[in-house]
Amino acid sequence: MADSQRIAIVSVYDKTGLLDLAKGLVQQNVRILASGGTAKMIRESGFPVEDISAITKAPEMLAGRVKTLHPAVHAGILARNLASDEKDLAEQNIDKVDYVICNLYPFKDTVAKINVTVPEAVEEIDIGGVTLIRAAAKNHSRVTILSDPNDYAEFLKELEAGEVQESSRKLYALKAFEHTADYDAAISDFFRKQYAAEGAQYLPLRYGANPHQKPASAYVKEGNLPFKVLCGAPGYINLLDALNSWPLVKELKKALGTPAAASFKHVSPAGAAIGLPLDADERKVYMVDDIPGIESSALAQAYARARGADRMSSFGDMIALSDIVDVATASIISKEVSDGVIAPGYEPAALEILKKKKGGKYLILQMDPEYEPSKTETRTVYGVNLTQGRNDVEISPDSFKTIITPKNSGQLSESALRDLTVATIAIKYTQSNSVCYATRGQVVGLGAGQQSRIHCTRLAGDKADNWWLRFHPRVLGIKWKKGTKRPDKSNNIDLLVSGELPKSGPERETFEAAFEEVPAAFTEEEKDEWMSKLTDVVVSSDAFVGNPFVIRLVLTANSSGQFPFTDNVYRAARSGVKYIAAPGGSQNDGPVFETAEKLGVTFVEQKIRLFHH
Ligand code: 5GP
Repeated sequence: MADSQRIAIVSVYDKTGLLDLAKGLVQQNVRILASGGTAKMIRESGFPVEDISAITKAPEMLAGRVKTLHPAVHAGILARNLASDEKDLAEQNIDKVDYVICNLYPFKDTVAKINVTVPEAVEEIDIGGVTLIRAAAKNHSRVTILSDPNDYAEFLKELEAGEVQESSRKLYALKAFEHTADYDAAISDFFRKQYAAEGAQYLPLRYGANPHQKPASAYVKEGNLPFKVLCGAPGYINLLDALNSWPLVKELKKALGTPAAASFKHVSPAGAAIGLPLDADERKVYMVDDIPGIESSALAQAYARARGADRMSSFGDMIALSDIVDVATASIISKEVSDGVIAPGYEPAALEILKKKKGGKYLILQMDPEYEPSKTETRTVYGVNLTQGRNDVEISPDSFKTIITPKNSGQLSESALRDLTVATIAIKYTQSNSVCYATRGQVVGLGAGQQSRIHCTRLAGDKADNWWLRFHPRVLGIKWKKGTKRPDKSNNIDLLVSGELPKSGPERETFEAAFEEVPAAFTEEEKDEWMSKLTDVVVSSDAFVGNPFVIRLVLTANSSGQFPFTDNVYRAARSGVKYIAAPGGSQNDGPVFETAEKLGVTFVEQKIRLFHH
């Protein structure tokens, strides 16, 4: 039965440092029990060692599949310093184990080999070692578990000084749990690729963000992916866009009760909107005046608005639609250059139209509308895991109740609340800093990913100005040369309204070649005069503007948390903004509010910061 000699069980695949360890254990009069190969190496070096079978009284079996799996081993490891445990051990004549030194078969290295077979991988699944490690880590209040040869030296130092400290045992146990968790993750990753129905739980991708970033895949650890691929093969960035744009439209529809659409590029919206009827000018500017049935499809109207906000940025977009896709919506998509669409479903005729796009390679994803992601999300950046609670805060018209200025003002109008909701939900899914201008239930200017808030406010404001200039009679009256393609029309209109029109040279010649009658450039006076007609815009910011300010042309800003300077308010007001919504808290709140009041802008505090990365 038990004597006072301490016992170590040693079973290591990686035998680095093993002999130094054995020497140190022997010097401290620790009895070493080891599995086959480990014992052999220690013995051949002249150190005293016993086979595990000395306590199990059973040989290693099944070509090494069973080496240490035995109550004599595991009861010895798991026993606590309790009278009942001592009694159990005494009855079975089992000694307590004090130290376990174990590392695992190299499963990762094996499956990294090209063309590895399932039987080869199976033989590398360590069973007994994982059990040794987990048992010893579980009982770390008494037992020391070493799973990393780098820890041997420090362990021996402590042993020489007396005993392994509790603090060290805790750290070794943590490392051990991480070792087995990583090992199990590698095993499930291998079998997911082998056995999971492709497209159900696991989707191989051609490459990551760039062609040289291989391998790449999308998967969930439990259950199935929340979307099905109905056509095409998604790329990594397609999925980033799809999985950011879907919640945007789902949330927008929930908040406003109207079908919603978003047009995404590089993980930010180029446009987002709800389905409001389009007037004749809007149909023309958004290039949908030839779409049959658009007047009775709120979803088609939503996409026309989302796509129409910033046609240059939407080129090659990933589209998200909140509702089952109908023929009118599919007809718009069929005319545009686009990479893919995600929606909860497709009418059969709409699906037929979309499947013909891009020579049959258009990406069509069907999203499970009931899907709820987990409350926490984790990503790896440069080898470091970052985890956070998901941003599941709900934005709705109720989010805009706190009016800071003008004082004593009543409720905001329904359209202002609607547009603020659109702008604020859009920035929730836009790379920060972000500022969004909205009106008529749609984004009209969105600034994304700017380090400076004022640059973001200007960028979004310039986009809103360009959007509005596209409604100028000179643009509406453009006579295109026959055969001018939609993207070329969009490019040339953008040159005209952005003031980037070349005066001469080949670029000018290309521009002129698109028209029957070349339109004159806008003068500053013409622009100012036209901009003065734009009024009902709102702005939302992802962070402090001093306080949320809304403009009747809704501008929503998402940024490093602030609209800290009055310059943002001045810039927004130049683009017809009447309402600004932003989180409060900047030291410069006072001047911001005064400026808003002076400019006739209503400033609304939307209390939640909405940074997104
Ligand atoms: P050795 O080289 O000593 O023969 O084997 C050491 C390896 O065997 C270690 O990686 C250890 O995790 C693993 N091992 C220990 N016990 C068992 C067992 O009962 N079954 C299996 N399959 N592997 C074990």
